[in-house]
Amino acid sequence: MDLPVDEWKSYVLQKWSLLPKSIQVTISTAETLNDLFLHSSALLQPEDEMFLKRLSGGYVVGKDPDASLFYREKGNKKFQAKDYMGAAVLYSKGVSHSGPNSTDISLCYANRSAALFHLGQYETCLKDIVRAQMHGYPERLQPKLLLRKAECLVTLGRPQEASQTIIDLESSFAAKPTLSASQFQILQRTLCRVKVKVQEKKNLPEIFPEALTKTFEGMDLREENEQIPGASSSVTLHIDPLKGRFLVATKDILPGELLVKEDAFVSVLNPGEVPLRPHSLESKWEIQATSGDLHCHRCLRHTLAPVPCEGCSYAKYCSQECMQQAWDRYHSVECSLGALLLTLGVFCHVALRSTLLARFEDVGKVIKKLCGEMSNQGICLPESKTPAQILKYGQGGEGEKTDKAVETPIPGCDINGKYERNYNAIFHLLPHTENHSPEYKFLCAVSVSALCRQLEAAGLQAFTTDLKPTKLKAAETPVLGAELNVWGVAMLRHMLQLQCNAQAITTIQQTGSKESLIADTRRVRLATALFPVVSLLNHSCSPNTSVSFIGTIATIRASQLIRSGQEILHCYGPHESRMGVAERRQKLRSQYFFDCDCPPCEREKQRPSAGPGREAFRCHRCRALLQGDDVLSCSGPACTESVGRDLLVSRLQDLQQQVGAAQKHLRNGRLELAIQLLLGCQSDAESFLSAEHSVVGEIEDALAQAYAALGDWEKSATHLQKSLQVVEVHHGPSSVEMGHELFKLAQVFFNGCAIPEALNTIQKAEKVLLVHYGPWNDEIRELQKMKSCLLDLLPIPVGPKE
Ligand SMILES: [Zn+2]
Ligand SMILES: [Zn+2]
Ligand SMILES: [Zn+2]
Ligand SMILES: [Zn+2]
Repeated sequence: MDLPVDEWKSYVLQKWSLLPKSIQVTISTAETLNDLFLHSSALLQPEDEMFLKRLSGGYVVGKDPDASLFYREKGNKKFQAKDYMGAAVLYSKGVSHSGPNSTDISLCYANRSAALFHLGQYETCLKDIVRAQMHGYPERLQPKLLLRKAECLVTLGRPQEASQTIIDLESSFAAKPTLSASQFQILQRTLCRVKVKVQEKKNLPEIFPEALTKTFEGMDLREENEQIPGASSSVTLHIDPLKGRFLVATKDILPGELLVKEDAFVSVLNPGEVPLRPHSLESKWEIQATSGDLHCHRCLRHTLAPVPCEGCSYAKYCSQECMQQAWDRYHSVECSLGALLLTLGVFCHVALRSTLLARFEDVGKVIKKLCGEMSNQGICLPESKTPAQILKYGQGGEGEKTDKAVETPIPGCDINGKYERNYNAIFHLLPHTENHSPEYKFLCAVSVSALCRQLEAAGLQAFTTDLKPTKLKAAETPVLGAELNVWGVAMLRHMLQLQCNAQAITTIQQTGSKESLIADTRRVRLATALFPVVSLLNHSCSPNTSVSFIGTIATIRASQLIRSGQEILHCYGPHESRMGVAERRQKLRSQYFFDCDCPPCEREKQRPSAGPGREAFRCHRCRALLQGDDVLSCSGPACTESVGRDLLVSRLQDLQQQVGAAQKHLRNGRLELAIQLLLGCQSDAESFLSAEHSVVGEIEDALAQAYAALGDWEKSATHLQKSLQVVEVHHGPSSVEMGHELFKLAQVFFNGCAIPEALNTIQKAEKVLLVHYGPWNDEIRELQKMKSCLLDLLPIPVGPKE
């Protein structure tokens, strides 16, 4: 989803393979991004653009009144089945497909308000009622809507407004009796009920809504770094010819301390599974909710009641404000390009949006700098440079270091050495041009140039009015074509940067079935973003920090004691607990172009074994561990058992398949069947896998879920404790994985009313999760609620009788 869709990728690669050798060489050896872009761009033919256009045509991003009706009817069916969540999602899709100020959109909003009412989301329900009215909700249906409004207001403890709404309602009855007698009766009855409730509320002393002042304690940096806004004063920026830029602790840092809090410079929501489909009536409109349906396309906040862009059905926002901001900053240009951007992938989209956002900084300076940098370093490397310098081209201003050492000592910093979260910092992230394959560079360059042509066709005027470098003299203003080229080259640079510098914004998603009472969560990728400060951190397979996200804000906390002088490290993905050294190093080399020499890698290189020892097999006779490569023999003192690895591996695969089948039954609520299967898996696993094997942990975890769904909290806790042991061996006692597992155990003890055990586990879970997330985290707040509830339940010590 980061890269263009497969069809376009293979089309371009095919085109590449058919190019004459001489042209391939010209492109492969292009010394500058500018040359790379111009040579590739010249090869983009009208028929290529036609092909791309046909591909994009498979995405539904325009508005379609038929779709609006289709989704509203589907939503009504869910509503009747009392699946209010499902109904809300479908009404939202209906909203997205309706034009502004149409009956369609007002009906979708009104229906969604009803679903939200049943979901207890009264504030959001009120907003949707206002939206329905704003877009011309039919007069004859008004009473129903007003009544819902009154009910919301009563529930929210706003009786004054509720009575005003009732007065409005009664006068509209009197003015236009548009309802049939039976409808009128039903309404009257509800009205009476609401009136009674209003009266009750009025007799109570005014209750203020829960204090809305949010304490962001622990959410802010204790002391902000003067050199690097967004980072803590406990760190400093270093540069090294081999390692590039990196952060170092200037004092001892305790676990849990907030080190970086940074809003993304740019972020693009990942569309999720939006399959390219042939147009057929049956499958034209997607019913499944993707993350794009449930999150604001600007701030990424979760929402059940998005407001759509007025021009397309794709972009949705949590509020009018977010919609307006997105429009002003980038969506006015992106709106008509929605399908193309889905086809070209998220990286291309991030590249475009970065350059669009750059317009809002000192435009003259940015353009001047852009052109300046391009001729000074990486992009338009002068031919006079030595081969050694050429080799280093693109490596974050190595050339610049010699040229302008006095002016800017560290790339990305301003003249005063300040590293700011701005386009300058983004521009200086390493594109690693020399490391990408010629095919990849060609794909990026051709995709960007196709995007440029579309921008041109879609009215470059709108795009460039804001771009005109007002601070440059007229003579210096580049002609339109040349200017577009500068932007094309800048976008190409961003696209090449993204492979190493893109940060995935992730969120925890509930995946458990509706029946399961304990949370089963999965980390999912929500957006792709660029964070200038987070990008300064180097990788370790065993990092000393933990990253988490709230909307588009990234926070990095120390996950262990970091001594003064030590480097601040985070993990780019390949973590030692998830894969062996060979796999990690291979991944890091191919994606990030470096050989990892972090302590776990060095350690594991010394004893290259196939996978971590905890994933070991054991002897079915004496249970001792088996050792060896192709043929494993028992390590037990008096045992002569030996067995081929192939046999064990195929047994493991069978077992994993069984576990998968059991988990499916579990998700579908077939609990007894799931348990039966899982118990079989458990005894099978015991006979040939080590007790710490990850599959053993998976089985225990699934059993715990099944028993929890049956309400057998005691059994559930027993299995969860076993799964906890496996997680601890794999991830360590203070890992975030451990925190999530402890959270589950706390829920089980809580539900089973095992008060001392619950309190004990809550404390442990809180301690671990606080280090990784800080106090402003859903799970931690949930734990605190459980704790205060349990403390209320604790028997009050009875004093001696008098
Ligand atoms: Zn928003
Ligand atoms: Zn739009
Ligand atoms: Zn490593
Ligand atoms: Zn044995």
